Amino acid sequence: MIGGGPAGSSCALALANAGVSDILVVEASSYSGFKVGESIPPESRMLIRSLNIDEAFLTRHHEPCYGSCSYWGSDKRGYNDFLLNPHGHGWHLDRSRFDAFLAAQAHAAGVELLTGSSLSGSEPLGSTGHMLHIRCPGGVLARVHADFVVDASGRRSLFARQRGARQINSNPLICCAATLRRRNVDVAFSRLTHLEAVEQGWWYVASVPGNAVVIAFATNAQIVRTMQLQKAERWYRMLRAAPHMSQLTDGIDPRDAHVRCYPVPSYCLDRLCGERWLAIGDAASAYDPITAQGIVKSLSNGIHAAQAIQSWMSGTSDALQAFAQMVRTQYRRYVDLRRDLYCLEQRWPASEFWQRQITSASM
Ligand SMILES: Cc1cc2nc3c(=O)[nH]c(=O)nc-3n(C[C@H](O)[C@H](O)[C@H](O)COP(=O)(O)OP(=O)(O)OC[C@H]3O[C@@H](n4cnc5c(N)ncnc54)[C@H](O)[C@@H]3O)c2cc1C
Repeated sequence: MIGGGPAGSSCALALANAGVSDILVVEASSYSGFKVGESIPPESRMLIRSLNIDEAFLTRHHEPCYGSCSYWGSDKRGYNDFLLNPHGHGWHLDRSRFDAFLAAQAHAAGVELLTGSSLSGSEPLGSTGHMLHIRCPGGVLARVHADFVVDASGRRSLFARQRGARQINSNPLICCAATLRRRNVDVAFSRLTHLEAVEQGWWYVASVPGNAVVIAFATNAQIVRTMQLQKAERWYRMLRAAPHMSQLTDGIDPRDAHVRCYPVPSYCLDRLCGERWLAIGDAASAYDPITAQGIVKSLSNGIHAAQAIQSWMSGTSDALQAFAQMVRTQYRRYVDLRRDLYCLEQRWPASEFWQRQITSASM
């Protein structure tokens, strides 16, 4: 398994739960730094339960999320709450802690976990698998023979691209995000995800564990460059100009704002599997964060890929292709959802951001 994010860890854990042994997860990080992407919908509960880790997850004190409140398409506030959702509420995660938790659960189920180690290259060995070149802590280079490789390396699609797959891209966005401490922790902060469309893009705000708030602005690269949004003071000025977000963020101290800019492309690989390999999660397809489906898609991919790999191991020769077809179908549904969401916003017909979003959202 290349990558121990939600896709890699859930796939490794599902395989281990099914009795598959000798699973190795190679993970570049040590789960200690900040990681962006924190909102998961109520449907995640089913996936977490199917991995038999729901009780342990509930003791980890991630923040409940009761839905979203948005100013999108008009200046009227709209709600999408989870009150009637049969799965209950969603969560705002401490993302690094969540990823570390999943990896630890996989490890406890018998998966070998190699952290601080990166795949640097690979060679196909035909019907016997692949030779992986892994850079371990201290710069040591190891060669590992793998019968089967799952690419769960996230948006780099590292292994799949080494095997010739290409990301078919549409609609690249940039998210300029910061995590800020709340000044007055005695005043409860909203447990909703807040969204506001503005002329140059859209904002979201979500409270996360540790009395902190994640604030992100999604726009395109040209706007980031011309408005210099990587600079905290420019980003903060833009936030203050958003009529509804600025009220919400009144009690937040911008002095420690460290704005990080993340490219968020949407794509699906042209080849999702090959001889003794399969791509899952963001390595296979990546979604715009407006849908807040990235993590749940990666967990679901991990669990379904584990089933496909077991079927393939027991002789169903088209099991990997069937998985790939499912990923493609889900991607097409996502493209439709994204188009519908962006087409709801018609207030700025002259805005280059919205024009481009609406015309390219259907691609
Ligand atoms: C700004 C932003 C906001 C987002 N907000 C949300 C949100 O609110 N809700 C949501 O559901 N999704 C959100 N997402 C998307 C979500 O974060 C991803 O969809 C999700 O992380 C994908 O999980 P994954 O396991 O497929 O990939 P990743 O989480 O990217 O995991 C890949 C892993 O592979 C490891 N890796 C990379 N290269 C190597 C290598 N060479 N060797 C070994 N390991 C390697 C990485 O360290 C990483 O741990 C957001 C994304 C961005 C950028």
